[in-house]
Amino acid sequence: MRISQEIKLNFEDVLLQPKRSTLTSRQDVEMTRKFSFRNSNKVLDFCPIFASNMDGVGTFSMAKILQEYKMMTVITKTTTIDAWKQAVGNGLRLQSVSVCTGTKRVFDPEAEDYKTMQAVLKSFPDVKMITIDVANAYHQHMVDFVKMVRDEYPDKVIVTGNVVTGEMTEELILNGADIVKVGIGPGSVCTTRTMTGVGVPQFSAIVECSDAANGVGGHIMADGGCVHPGDIAKALGGGAHMVMIGGMLAGHDESGIKAVDGKREFYGMSSDRAREVHNKSKGGYRGNEGRLISLPDRGPVEPTIQDILGGVRSACTYIGAKRLKDMAKCATFIRTNNVINRAYERYTK
Ligand code: 5GP
Repeated sequence: MRISQEIKLNFEDVLLQPKRSTLTSRQDVEMTRKFSFRNSNKVLDFCPIFASNMDGVGTFSMAKILQEYKMMTVITKTTTIDAWKQAVGNGLRLQSVSVCTGTKRVFDPEAEDYKTMQAVLKSFPDVKMITIDVANAYHQHMVDFVKMVRDEYPDKVIVTGNVVTGEMTEELILNGADIVKVGIGPGSVCTTRTMTGVGVPQFSAIVECSDAANGVGGHIMADGGCVHPGDIAKALGGGAHMVMIGGMLAGHDESGIKAVDGKREFYGMSSDRAREVHNKSKGGYRGNEGRLISLPDRGPVEPTIQDILGGVRSACTYIGAKRLKDMAKCATFIRTNNVINRAYERYTK
Protein backbone atom coordinates (compact mmCIF):
# COMPACT_ATOMS: atom_id res chain seq x y z
CA MET A 1 0.00 0.00 0.00
CA ARG A 2 1.14 3.50 -0.76
CA ILE A 3 -0.40 6.89 -0.12
CA SER A 4 0.46 9.72 -2.48
CA GLN A 5 0.79 12.82 -0.29
CA GLU A 6 0.66 15.26 -3.17
CA ILE A 7 -2.48 17.39 -3.05
CA LYS A 8 -4.70 16.78 -6.06
CA LEU A 9 -7.09 19.47 -7.18
CA ASN A 10 -10.59 19.81 -8.56
CA PHE A 11 -11.93 22.72 -10.61
CA GLU A 12 -13.29 24.37 -7.46
CA ASP A 13 -9.84 24.36 -5.89
CA VAL A 14 -8.35 26.76 -8.43
CA LEU A 15 -8.98 30.10 -10.12
CA LEU A 16 -7.38 31.66 -13.15
CA GLN A 17 -5.47 34.78 -12.21
CA PRO A 18 -6.16 37.78 -14.46
CA LYS A 19 -3.26 39.24 -16.40
CA ARG A 20 -2.57 42.36 -18.43
CA SER A 21 -3.95 41.82 -21.88
CA THR A 22 -3.85 43.61 -25.21
CA LEU A 23 -7.09 42.08 -26.43
CA THR A 24 -9.63 44.78 -27.05
CA SER A 25 -12.74 42.63 -27.26
CA ARG A 26 -13.97 39.15 -26.50
CA GLN A 27 -14.88 38.97 -30.14
CA ASP A 28 -11.20 38.92 -31.06
CA VAL A 29 -10.62 35.57 -29.39
CA GLU A 30 -10.09 32.74 -31.85
CA MET A 31 -12.45 30.00 -30.69
CA THR A 32 -11.35 27.31 -33.13
CA ARG A 33 -8.07 25.53 -33.15
CA LYS A 34 -6.19 23.63 -35.82
CA PHE A 35 -4.94 20.27 -34.61
CA SER A 36 -2.40 17.99 -36.29
CA PHE A 37 -2.96 14.52 -34.96
CA ARG A 38 -0.04 12.25 -34.20
CA ASN A 39 -1.12 8.85 -35.44
CA SER A 40 -3.70 9.56 -38.14
CA ASN A 41 -1.73 12.53 -39.51
CA LYS A 42 -5.07 14.29 -39.91
CA VAL A 43 -5.28 18.04 -39.62
CA LEU A 44 -8.65 19.25 -38.35
CA ASP A 45 -9.88 22.67 -37.38
CA PHE A 46 -12.71 22.98 -34.83
CA CYS A 47 -13.84 24.52 -31.57
CA PRO A 48 -12.53 21.94 -29.09
CA ILE A 49 -15.68 21.49 -27.00
CA PHE A 50 -17.43 18.15 -27.47
CA ALA A 51 -20.92 16.92 -26.65
CA SER A 52 -20.55 13.59 -24.86
CA ASN A 53 -21.76 10.33 -26.38
CA MET A 54 -24.47 10.04 -23.74
CA ASP A 55 -28.19 9.52 -24.28
CA GLY A 56 -29.79 12.96 -24.22
CA VAL A 57 -26.54 14.64 -25.34
CA GLY A 58 -24.85 12.84 -28.25
CA THR A 59 -27.77 13.26 -30.64
CA PHE A 60 -28.01 14.45 -34.23
CA SER A 61 -30.24 17.37 -33.18
CA MET A 62 -27.51 18.48 -30.78
CA ALA A 63 -24.86 18.09 -33.49
CA LYS A 64 -26.83 20.24 -35.90
CA ILE A 65 -26.78 23.16 -33.45
CA LEU A 66 -23.21 22.62 -32.24
CA GLN A 67 -21.87 22.45 -35.80
CA GLU A 68 -22.90 26.08 -36.29
CA TYR A 69 -20.28 26.95 -33.68
CA LYS A 70 -17.76 24.46 -35.10
CA MET A 71 -18.16 22.43 -31.90
CA MET A 72 -18.13 18.63 -32.06
CA THR A 73 -20.61 15.91 -31.10
CA VAL A 74 -19.90 12.25 -30.41
CA ILE A 75 -22.97 10.40 -31.59
CA THR A 76 -24.05 7.63 -29.20
CA LYS A 77 -22.92 4.11 -30.03
CA THR A 78 -26.49 2.80 -30.09
CA THR A 79 -27.43 5.08 -32.99
CA THR A 80 -28.37 2.89 -35.95
CA ILE A 81 -27.03 3.19 -39.48
CA ASP A 82 -30.53 4.07 -40.67
CA ALA A 83 -30.64 6.99 -38.25
CA TRP A 84 -27.24 8.10 -39.58
CA LYS A 85 -28.49 7.97 -43.16
CA GLN A 86 -31.51 10.03 -42.30
CA ALA A 87 -29.49 12.66 -40.43
CA VAL A 88 -26.91 13.01 -43.20
CA GLY A 89 -29.60 13.84 -45.69
CA ASN A 90 -30.96 16.38 -43.27
CA GLY A 91 -28.32 19.01 -42.77
CA LEU A 92 -25.79 17.17 -40.58
CA ARG A 93 -22.16 18.09 -41.33
CA LEU A 94 -20.01 15.02 -41.03
CA GLN A 95 -16.85 16.92 -40.07
CA SER A 96 -18.59 17.90 -36.83
CA VAL A 97 -19.34 14.43 -35.55
CA SER A 98 -17.56 11.36 -34.29
CA VAL A 99 -18.85 7.83 -34.53
CA CYS A 100 -18.62 5.80 -31.33
CA THR A 101 -18.05 2.17 -30.40
CA GLY A 102 -17.51 0.14 -27.26
CA THR A 103 -14.91 -2.65 -27.02
CA LYS A 104 -17.21 -5.66 -27.04
CA ARG A 105 -15.68 -6.58 -30.40
CA VAL A 106 -12.64 -7.91 -28.48
CA PHE A 107 -14.76 -10.84 -27.28
CA ASP A 108 -17.46 -10.90 -29.91
CA PRO A 109 -16.72 -10.56 -33.65
CA GLU A 110 -20.44 -9.82 -34.19
CA ALA A 111 -20.54 -6.90 -31.71
CA GLU A 112 -23.27 -4.61 -32.94
CA ASP A 113 -21.68 -1.28 -32.01
CA TYR A 114 -18.49 -2.14 -33.91
CA LYS A 115 -20.43 -3.28 -36.95
CA THR A 116 -22.47 -0.09 -36.94
CA MET A 117 -19.26 1.94 -36.70
CA GLN A 118 -17.83 0.07 -39.69
CA ALA A 119 -21.01 0.67 -41.67
CA VAL A 120 -21.02 4.38 -40.82
CA LEU A 121 -17.39 4.81 -41.85
CA LYS A 122 -18.01 2.92 -45.07
CA SER A 123 -21.12 4.89 -46.01
CA PHE A 124 -19.74 8.25 -44.83
CA PRO A 125 -15.98 8.57 -45.31
CA ASP A 126 -16.22 12.22 -44.27
CA VAL A 127 -16.63 11.09 -40.67
CA LYS A 128 -13.03 11.53 -39.57
CA MET A 129 -13.23 10.60 -35.92
CA ILE A 130 -13.78 7.35 -34.01
CA THR A 131 -14.45 7.47 -30.28
CA ILE A 132 -13.82 4.27 -28.38
CA ASP A 133 -15.98 4.52 -25.32
CA VAL A 134 -14.98 2.70 -22.15
CA ALA A 135 -15.21 3.87 -18.58
CA ASN A 136 -11.82 2.39 -17.67
CA ALA A 137 -8.97 2.19 -20.16
CA TYR A 138 -6.51 0.52 -17.79
CA HIS A 139 -7.11 -3.00 -19.21
CA GLN A 140 -4.49 -4.53 -21.49
CA HIS A 141 -7.29 -5.55 -23.87
CA MET A 142 -8.03 -1.86 -24.32
CA VAL A 143 -4.53 -1.25 -25.66
CA ASP A 144 -4.88 -4.24 -27.98
CA PHE A 145 -8.24 -2.93 -29.15
CA VAL A 146 -6.82 0.52 -29.93
CA LYS A 147 -4.05 -1.15 -31.97
CA MET A 148 -6.61 -3.19 -33.84
CA VAL A 149 -8.76 -0.16 -34.68
CA ARG A 150 -5.66 1.78 -35.72
CA ASP A 151 -4.63 -1.05 -38.09
CA GLU A 152 -8.09 -1.09 -39.62
CA TYR A 153 -8.40 2.71 -39.85
CA PRO A 154 -4.91 4.20 -40.25
CA ASP A 155 -6.18 7.65 -41.20
CA LYS A 156 -9.04 8.20 -38.75
CA VAL A 157 -8.61 10.28 -35.62
CA ILE A 158 -8.97 7.83 -32.72
CA VAL A 159 -10.24 9.09 -29.38
CA THR A 160 -10.10 6.74 -26.44
CA GLY A 161 -10.06 6.63 -22.65
CA ASN A 162 -10.74 7.10 -19.88
CA VAL A 163 -7.60 7.47 -17.85
CA VAL A 164 -6.33 9.79 -15.12
CA THR A 165 -2.58 9.19 -15.09
CA GLY A 166 0.31 10.05 -17.34
CA GLU A 167 1.72 6.59 -18.02
CA MET A 168 -1.55 5.26 -19.40
CA THR A 169 -2.05 8.41 -21.49
CA GLU A 170 1.34 7.72 -23.09
CA GLU A 171 0.61 4.02 -23.51
CA LEU A 172 -2.61 4.66 -25.44
CA ILE A 173 -1.01 7.33 -27.64
CA LEU A 174 2.00 5.15 -28.39
CA ASN A 175 -0.37 2.37 -29.40
CA GLY A 176 -2.43 4.36 -31.86
CA ALA A 177 -4.72 6.83 -30.08
CA ASP A 178 -4.65 10.46 -31.23
CA ILE A 179 -6.68 11.82 -28.33
CA VAL A 180 -6.95 10.34 -24.84
CA LYS A 181 -9.98 11.14 -22.72
CA VAL A 182 -9.21 12.05 -19.13
CA GLY A 183 -11.63 11.58 -16.26
CA ILE A 184 -12.63 8.79 -13.93
CA GLY A 185 -15.53 9.60 -11.69
CA PRO A 186 -16.04 13.38 -12.10
CA GLY A 187 -19.25 13.19 -14.17
CA SER A 188 -22.51 14.84 -13.18
CA VAL A 189 -24.44 11.55 -13.22
CA CYS A 190 -21.53 9.29 -12.37
CA THR A 191 -21.37 7.32 -9.12
CA THR A 192 -18.05 5.55 -9.70
CA ARG A 193 -16.33 7.31 -6.84
CA THR A 194 -19.03 6.41 -4.33
CA MET A 195 -19.48 2.89 -5.68
CA THR A 196 -15.81 1.98 -6.07
CA GLY A 197 -13.76 4.57 -4.22
CA VAL A 198 -11.71 5.09 -7.40
CA GLY A 199 -10.80 8.37 -9.10
CA VAL A 200 -8.41 11.32 -9.27
CA PRO A 201 -9.53 14.95 -8.84
CA GLN A 202 -10.17 16.16 -12.36
CA PHE A 203 -8.08 19.32 -12.57
CA SER A 204 -4.91 17.54 -11.44
CA ALA A 205 -5.64 14.60 -13.73
CA ILE A 206 -5.84 17.03 -16.67
CA VAL A 207 -2.55 18.72 -15.79
CA GLU A 208 -0.74 15.39 -15.44
CA CYS A 209 -2.19 13.71 -18.54
CA SER A 210 -1.72 16.78 -20.71
CA ASP A 211 1.94 16.95 -19.77
CA ALA A 212 2.32 13.26 -20.63
CA ALA A 213 0.49 13.63 -23.96
CA ASN A 214 2.51 16.69 -24.97
CA GLY A 215 5.68 14.71 -24.36
CA VAL A 216 4.74 12.13 -26.99
CA GLY A 217 2.97 14.44 -29.45
CA GLY A 218 -0.57 13.41 -28.52
CA HIS A 219 -3.65 15.23 -27.28
CA ILE A 220 -6.07 14.92 -24.39
CA MET A 221 -9.74 15.62 -23.94
CA ALA A 222 -10.91 16.48 -20.41
CA ASP A 223 -14.08 14.45 -19.93
CA GLY A 224 -16.54 15.15 -17.13
CA GLY A 225 -16.94 17.40 -14.15
CA CYS A 226 -17.50 20.73 -15.91
CA VAL A 227 -20.47 22.37 -14.23
CA HIS A 228 -19.94 25.99 -15.26
CA PRO A 229 -18.40 27.61 -18.35
CA GLY A 230 -15.52 28.64 -16.06
CA ASP A 231 -14.70 24.97 -15.49
CA ILE A 232 -14.21 24.53 -19.24
CA ALA A 233 -11.89 27.55 -19.18
CA LYS A 234 -9.98 26.02 -16.26
CA ALA A 235 -9.70 22.68 -18.09
CA LEU A 236 -8.29 24.39 -21.20
CA GLY A 237 -6.01 26.56 -19.07
CA GLY A 238 -4.84 23.42 -17.25
CA GLY A 239 -3.67 21.91 -20.52
CA ALA A 240 -6.66 20.04 -21.91
CA HIS A 241 -6.55 20.33 -25.69
CA MET A 242 -10.26 19.54 -25.83
CA VAL A 243 -13.14 19.32 -23.35
CA MET A 244 -16.13 16.96 -23.34
CA ILE A 245 -19.35 17.94 -21.59
CA GLY A 246 -22.50 15.97 -20.78
CA GLY A 247 -24.61 17.42 -18.00
CA MET A 248 -24.19 21.03 -19.16
CA LEU A 249 -25.96 20.11 -22.40
CA ALA A 250 -28.57 17.75 -20.92
CA GLY A 251 -32.26 18.53 -20.45
CA HIS A 252 -32.66 20.56 -23.65
CA ASP A 253 -35.02 20.22 -26.61
CA GLU A 254 -32.23 18.59 -28.62
CA SER A 255 -31.89 15.71 -26.12
CA GLY A 256 -34.21 13.38 -27.99
CA ILE A 257 -35.80 12.65 -24.59
CA LYS A 258 -39.42 13.73 -24.25
CA ALA A 259 -40.33 16.32 -21.64
CA VAL A 260 -42.96 15.01 -19.24
CA ASP A 261 -44.62 17.51 -16.89
CA GLY A 262 -41.88 20.01 -17.65
CA LYS A 263 -39.07 17.56 -16.81
CA ARG A 264 -36.62 15.53 -18.83
CA GLU A 265 -34.71 12.45 -17.77
CA PHE A 266 -30.96 12.32 -17.85
CA TYR A 267 -28.91 9.32 -16.77
CA GLY A 268 -25.39 7.95 -16.63
CA MET A 269 -24.50 5.47 -19.34
CA SER A 270 -23.51 2.91 -16.69
CA SER A 271 -26.74 3.37 -14.77
CA ASP A 272 -29.51 0.84 -14.35
CA ARG A 273 -31.70 3.21 -16.36
CA ALA A 274 -29.33 3.12 -19.35
CA ARG A 275 -29.31 -0.68 -19.22
CA GLU A 276 -33.09 -0.70 -19.11
CA VAL A 277 -33.34 1.66 -22.11
CA HIS A 278 -30.85 -0.39 -24.14
CA ASN A 279 -32.00 -3.86 -23.00
CA LYS A 280 -28.73 -4.77 -21.37
CA SER A 281 -28.30 -6.82 -18.24
CA LYS A 282 -25.82 -6.44 -15.43
CA GLY A 283 -24.87 -10.08 -15.94
CA GLY A 284 -24.97 -10.61 -12.18
CA TYR A 285 -21.61 -8.89 -11.62
CA ARG A 286 -21.89 -5.24 -12.67
CA GLY A 287 -22.79 -2.46 -10.26
CA ASN A 288 -24.87 0.62 -10.91
CA GLU A 289 -22.30 3.36 -11.58
CA GLY A 290 -24.60 6.06 -12.83
CA ARG A 291 -27.46 8.16 -11.59
CA LEU A 292 -30.93 8.71 -13.06
CA ILE A 293 -32.10 12.28 -12.60
CA SER A 294 -35.04 14.39 -13.63
CA LEU A 295 -34.10 17.83 -14.94
CA PRO A 296 -36.41 20.80 -15.40
CA ASP A 297 -36.88 21.21 -19.17
CA ARG A 298 -34.23 23.71 -20.30
CA GLY A 299 -35.68 24.52 -23.75
CA PRO A 300 -33.42 25.07 -26.76
CA VAL A 301 -29.71 24.44 -26.27
CA GLU A 302 -28.47 27.44 -28.23
CA PRO A 303 -28.54 29.98 -25.35
CA THR A 304 -26.65 27.48 -23.19
CA ILE A 305 -24.00 27.12 -25.89
CA GLN A 306 -23.69 30.88 -26.22
CA ASP A 307 -23.24 31.10 -22.44
CA ILE A 308 -20.51 28.50 -22.54
CA LEU A 309 -18.65 30.12 -25.41
CA GLY A 310 -19.15 33.59 -23.90
CA GLY A 311 -17.62 32.41 -20.60
CA VAL A 312 -14.62 30.83 -22.28
CA ARG A 313 -14.07 33.87 -24.51
CA SER A 314 -14.18 36.13 -21.49
CA ALA A 315 -11.69 33.91 -19.64
CA CYS A 316 -9.33 34.31 -22.60
CA THR A 317 -9.52 38.08 -22.43
CA TYR A 318 -8.90 38.02 -18.67
CA ILE A 319 -5.70 36.01 -19.07
CA GLY A 320 -4.51 37.56 -22.34
CA ALA A 321 -5.04 34.54 -24.60
CA LYS A 322 -5.80 35.56 -28.19
CA ARG A 323 -6.62 32.00 -29.14
CA LEU A 324 -7.92 28.98 -27.23
CA LYS A 325 -4.62 27.40 -28.14
CA ASP A 326 -2.80 29.97 -26.00
CA MET A 327 -4.84 29.37 -22.85
CA ALA A 328 -2.47 26.90 -21.20
CA LYS A 329 0.49 29.11 -22.05
CA CYS A 330 -1.18 32.18 -20.57
CA ALA A 331 -2.76 30.53 -17.52
CA THR A 332 -1.56 31.12 -13.99
CA PHE A 333 -3.71 29.33 -11.44
CA ILE A 334 -4.21 30.26 -7.83
CA ARG A 335 -4.99 27.54 -5.36
CA THR A 336 -7.99 28.42 -3.30
CA ASN A 337 -11.17 26.99 -1.90
CA ASN A 338 -14.71 28.27 -1.76
CA VAL A 339 -14.36 30.16 -5.03
CA ILE A 340 -18.00 30.96 -5.70
CA ASN A 341 -20.29 33.33 -3.85
CA ARG A 342 -23.48 31.32 -3.43
CA ALA A 343 -25.42 33.86 -1.39
CA TYR A 344 -28.17 34.41 -3.96
CA GLU A 345 -27.84 31.14 -5.83
CA ARG A 346 -31.16 29.78 -4.62
CA TYR A 347 -33.01 32.89 -5.80
CA THR A 348 -31.60 32.72 -9.35
CA LYS A 349 -34.18 32.20 -12.08
P1 5GP B 1 -20.47 15.62 -17.15
O1 5GP B 1 -20.10 16.59 -18.22
O2 5GP B 1 -21.92 15.31 -17.16
O3 5GP B 1 -19.97 16.02 -15.81
O4 5GP B 1 -19.69 14.27 -17.50
C1 5GP B 1 -19.91 13.58 -18.68
C2 5GP B 1 -19.06 12.33 -18.68
O5 5GP B 1 -19.43 11.44 -17.62
C3 5GP B 1 -19.26 11.46 -19.91
O6 5GP B 1 -18.65 11.99 -21.06
C4 5GP B 1 -18.69 10.13 -19.44
O7 5GP B 1 -17.30 10.09 -19.54
C5 5GP B 1 -19.06 10.11 -17.97
N1 5GP B 1 -20.24 9.24 -17.72
C6 5GP B 1 -21.41 9.20 -18.38
N2 5GP B 1 -22.25 8.29 -17.83
C7 5GP B 1 -21.58 7.75 -16.80
C8 5GP B 1 -21.92 6.73 -15.85
O8 5GP B 1 -23.01 6.17 -15.81
N3 5GP B 1 -20.94 6.41 -14.96
C9 5GP B 1 -19.71 7.00 -14.98
N4 5GP B 1 -18.79 6.58 -14.09
N5 5GP B 1 -19.38 7.99 -15.83
C10 5GP B 1 -20.31 8.35 -16.73
